[in-house]
Amino acid sequence: MKFQDLNLNKFLLNALSENGYENPTPIQEKVFPVMNSGKDLIGIAQTGTGKTLAYLLPALQQWKFSKDRDPQILILVPTRELVVQVVGELKKLTEYMNVVSVGVYGGTNINTQAAEVEQGLDVIVGTPGRLLDLAYRGSLRFKSIKKVIIDEVDEMLNLGFRTQIKNILDLIPDKVQHSMFSATLDEEIEALTHEFFKSPEKVEAAPPGTPVDKISQSLFKVKNFNTKINLIRDILMNPEAYDFGLNIDDENMEAKILVFTSSKKFADKVFEELEGDFDEILGVMHSNKSQNYRLNTIENFQNGEVKILIATDLISRGLDISEVSHVINFDMPEITENYIHRIGRTGRIDKKGIAISFATDKEEGQVQQIEDLMQMKIPVLEFPDHVPVSNTLIFEEEPKIHMKPVEVKIEPLEEKGAAFHEKKEKNKKVNKKITKAEKMKKKYKKPKTRGQKKRGKRK
Ligand code: AMP
Repeated sequence: MKFQDLNLNKFLLNALSENGYENPTPIQEKVFPVMNSGKDLIGIAQTGTGKTLAYLLPALQQWKFSKDRDPQILILVPTRELVVQVVGELKKLTEYMNVVSVGVYGGTNINTQAAEVEQGLDVIVGTPGRLLDLAYRGSLRFKSIKKVIIDEVDEMLNLGFRTQIKNILDLIPDKVQHSMFSATLDEEIEALTHEFFKSPEKVEAAPPGTPVDKISQSLFKVKNFNTKINLIRDILMNPEAYDFGLNIDDENMEAKILVFTSSKKFADKVFEELEGDFDEILGVMHSNKSQNYRLNTIENFQNGEVKILIATDLISRGLDISEVSHVINFDMPEITENYIHRIGRTGRIDKKGIAISFATDKEEGQVQQIEDLMQMKIPVLEFPDHVPVSNTLIFEEEPKIHMKPVEVKIEPLEEKGAAFHEKKEKNKKVNKKITKAEKMKKKYKKPKTRGQKKRGKRK
């Protein structure tokens, strides 16, 4: 099927072909007629299936110019990064249309966003809290809304947005068309649809739990954190040696590696361990980083300035980062389904991908649950001989000994003793690895120039 077969208007068809989109993906083919008919819809689709265009195309096809400029289309997404991404897709698709799209999200000045909204708009994309704040202060009116689209519903509910979503839906006129997209369906989501949706039609891209089959998965059993660091360093130094016959060069693909850790603390820890070797091609991202830092890091990873990005599950969902060659699960995810989301960052649309996981004995249970969900075993690879195995445990791995509290008499502190001026151990460290970092920079080649460069360098 071609996009022409969907009866899209010529403005959308032109924009699609200019952006290199030729044929609709399966979810796009399936969603279009349902949304076009005005029915409510539940789309079960993961990121990477083309679900964003699946809802944007019919929504924009049915948009009609209106003078009042209150928004006709409302799109709810869970994170600021997704707001930016969806607005980006909207801008691409509406290049030849007079559609104004605005993205709003928390953590930034509400007055600036309120002023932008008050100038008039057609499509609003936002995170639930900020949308409500703008609605309550009267800057955003929902009276002209014709379509509400809730994206990544499962993630929204995980993040605790249930009440906000309901409050927003309560403010919206009854007659609107409701659509939602989620990678999984559970009782909570069903309950939400029962309350607000009218006989929704279910459309499914792939059954939840199905990993994309273009992704080659493998697992290393690793003794502890320090050994994981040794192994990841080896993989990052020689990603070609770990492409498992996919021959990433043949795929016209440079190594671009996304590393997932189980917590912010571990993301920072892994970053600190590898920083000396990889210098500026290494980035880290999690929810404690400022919003600007997060947006810039994503942009730099997208445009290839950053080649290795360490992240938490915050970005395993939703975000479309193109051309990731390897996903490395430094730690196994605690939420089983996140494994599918994480590895889905590679192998996008027409590309192959590599997913490598590390698991210690303690993580065996998580591996088992993931395998049960996927109904397949992840092939276990032999630990490479040349990678050193460490026996040194980090604090978090040491067995916890529970002792009775002991009363200790605290001596008054000496005033300004010499010890106060002693440098902390970590501040004494001298980075001697500059030459290696430079070598790696060279190895990972120059970034492909796409869009602005040099913005938001790491501080
Ligand atoms: P999504 O699942 O919406 O995050 O989309 C994943 C990626 O697929 C994005 O980079 C889109 O630009 C791309 N994409 C969406 N639809 C198509 C299509 N019909 N043909 C090729 N690429 C597409």
